[in-house]
Amino acid sequence: MNLQGVGIGRGLALGPVLRMPDPLPEPSDASSGVTADEEKVRAAGALAATAADIRIRGQRAGGAAKDVLEAQAFMAEDPTLRDDVDTRIVAGKTAERAVFEAFAAFRDLLTSMGGYMGERATDLNDVSQRVVANLQGVSAPGVPNPDYPFVLVARDLAPADTALLDLDKVLALVTSDGGPTSHTAILAREKAIVAVVGAPDALQLADGVTVVVDATTGLVTASPTDDEISAARSTMAARAAAAVTPVGPGALADGTLVPLLANLGSVAGAADALAKGAEGVGLFRTEFLFLDSDRAPSVAEQQEKYTQLLTSFAGKKVVVRALDAGADKPLSFLNDEPEENPALGLRGLRALRANESILRDQLSALAAADAATEAELWVMAPMVSTVEETRYFTTLARELGLTTAGVMVEVPAAALLADRILADTDFASIGTNDLTQYTLAADRLLGSVASFQDPWHPAVLRLVGEVGRAGALLGKPVGICGEAAADPALAVVLVGLGATSLSMSPAALADVRAELSRFTLDQAKEFAEIALSANSAVEARVAVAAAASSLTNTTLTESE
Ligand code: PEP
Ligand code: MG
Repeated sequence: MNLQGVGIGRGLALGPVLRMPDPLPEPSDASSGVTADEEKVRAAGALAATAADIRIRGQRAGGAAKDVLEAQAFMAEDPTLRDDVDTRIVAGKTAERAVFEAFAAFRDLLTSMGGYMGERATDLNDVSQRVVANLQGVSAPGVPNPDYPFVLVARDLAPADTALLDLDKVLALVTSDGGPTSHTAILAREKAIVAVVGAPDALQLADGVTVVVDATTGLVTASPTDDEISAARSTMAARAAAAVTPVGPGALADGTLVPLLANLGSVAGAADALAKGAEGVGLFRTEFLFLDSDRAPSVAEQQEKYTQLLTSFAGKKVVVRALDAGADKPLSFLNDEPEENPALGLRGLRALRANESILRDQLSALAAADAATEAELWVMAPMVSTVEETRYFTTLARELGLTTAGVMVEVPAAALLADRILADTDFASIGTNDLTQYTLAADRLLGSVASFQDPWHPAVLRLVGEVGRAGALLGKPVGICGEAAADPALAVVLVGLGATSLSMSPAALADVRAELSRFTLDQAKEFAEIALSANSAVEARVAVAAAASSLTNTTLTESE
């Protein structure tokens, strides 16, 4: 069986499938026939064992995950919850049913409180499922943890699940849901996990079946033949050898420099980015530092993190984005009102403006870190849609001591007015993930509309071209920091549309660098025209591939 999905990056992996267990069914209300005292002992044992298990997993994961899991362990030990479980058992429920009902009641209470407490409610579901699984003697839900390497197959993963993956064990990730720009995909890219997302039939893969996961083609081959296995093995060996080859700066065949930068979500990623030849950072997602915080970070706390980041990139450009909270990356201290449609809500710069002291603290921490280090710091605002917002952010950043301030172009309105926006700021960075989501009206988290979430769409490219043209006219840099920059063929097109730098997950740098070096700026512009005149994303991709291969063939024939 072959499955088609959307590949993330260009990796290849081979290994046995292990599926993320399905959520447990609701425990039945039928009486177990044992005494209430026996049920109480069973429930207490399961709660304690679950707390211990969660705590061990937290210690193993370390970092932010440790705090999240420690908080979950406390939930399993909560005396009020335990009393409620006992009361329900005395009233005739089984231990499983009593746990299920007590946790559900507590969850509903937290949900009604909203804000930070409301967000913790879903953690209670996870703990409840683990306790019930323990009582029933079945595998707990969540990422499995066998003692051998495996290909993880799931409907989708929460960012916390992805962050906890043991990279020595998880050879690849295959999901039935999620688009190429979901944050699960972004984290997978950042961690260089071979991944295919949005493969509708993924859940039909049975545990233990061997699969080849090819992120370049988005193809998952189940039960491969011996020939397919040896082809996969030799490709993997060639890629491992290429990864350690020394690299130069990003440039086109005619010598036009196109700095290749890294997208990072943690300071820990710096060494890997530099090893892979990143010439700086084009997008530092600061919100990833504080996803689990229940309060706004202090200036001192932030200053320490930004100083570490800037120190790692001394002498290089580092573009730091102000907190981009909202939609699939809510920060409880910035997004405390539930919204029907959070992607169109108070997110990005809008949320920061509504909490200006948090924005001021962040910019002040960045300015202090900048003064103490040698990197070239640029700051930018997320989700800007108007000229007025551009002026607001740029003015505030300068007032707080930052020398280079710019805005992200992620909303079509900003792309359409790029000339006026760029006149009022220092640079633009195009976030093609959101720009595609808003241009095609396709939620970037939904597998069902993943086919619309394609930055090759000529409408998206036309908007990129608007920004590129404005940048060239005004002499202002225009970077790309969405996942589109990580697609080698599209990277060439984006340069042809006027992008002056490209930023991507470090794992993608080598392939993009190699592809850029094959073409001149004139050829890149030609590909851009070809893509712009297509009617669809698929047509654009195919037409550019054909033009690139005919150029390569002509060059080969001429040199023979
Ligand atoms: C984007 O939208 O393209 C972008 C880079 O920002 P994020 O993916 O973090 O929303
Ligand atoms: Mg974005």
